[in-house]
Amino acid sequence: MKSLIVGNWKMNPATLREAKLLFDASRKAADRAPHVSVVVAPPSIFIRDLKTRYKGKKIAFAAQHARAESGGAYTGDVSLAQYKDAGCSYVIIGHAERRALGETDEDTGKKTAAALALKLTPILCVGETKRGSGGEHFDVVRAQLRAGLLGVEPAQLGRVVIAYEPVWTIGKTEAMSPANMHEMAIFIRKSVVDAKGPSGMGIKILYGGSVDETSAPEMLRNGDVHGLLVGRASEEGAKFTALLQAIEYAA
Ligand code: PEP
Repeated sequence: MKSLIVGNWKMNPATLREAKLLFDASRKAADRAPHVSVVVAPPSIFIRDLKTRYKGKKIAFAAQHARAESGGAYTGDVSLAQYKDAGCSYVIIGHAERRALGETDEDTGKKTAAALALKLTPILCVGETKRGSGGEHFDVVRAQLRAGLLGVEPAQLGRVVIAYEPVWTIGKTEAMSPANMHEMAIFIRKSVVDAKGPSGMGIKILYGGSVDETSAPEMLRNGDVHGLLVGRASEEGAKFTALLQAIEYAA
């Protein structure tokens, strides 16, 4: 099965000109990686431009953050429906940086259900902010999964992607070990099965947090994941190219 690699550009780059250059480099890298499914999440203001000039099918677009409401008095926000109209087929929900700015578990539940209703693929981010020795991180992840999947029917689980991102690895120097990810992947599947029934067994899981071209192949081989959600490794053309090539050669 192809690995799913999602590149979250966050609030980068500064100009449309640079965004086009980054997209062109990503597109070339994606074309040379047939074993990888590539999704990019540029800043909202660049999406329509990039999507309009891209005639290929190899790269899909994701929103980094969206509102579930279809319209209304929400100054500065962009709705799921508007992202869909601009060409997105995925949406990142509950990213740690948005949770830190006030996005709640309840919000993630509404958005995940609304995204599915619009035929967008939700990428629901879960992950603890810190790890102690008492296993509390499992309680955090279970609660985030339950809330985020609250309005999801068991039959819809095949269209949901869970991104496990231990917050303490995001923006740092080292990714979590594949063995720890494997343990968490088992826990995520069990939690989804407990909440939604046996169809949860097949849920897609990504790892996110400081992964790069060096750590990616082993994470994909031994971490029990379907792919990766990356930040910095997607924000420069050369880095994203190195990441996709490393995954392609290891496939
Ligand atoms: C992220 O913010 O989702 C992320 C994985 O960031 P980075 O790859 O830069 O750690």
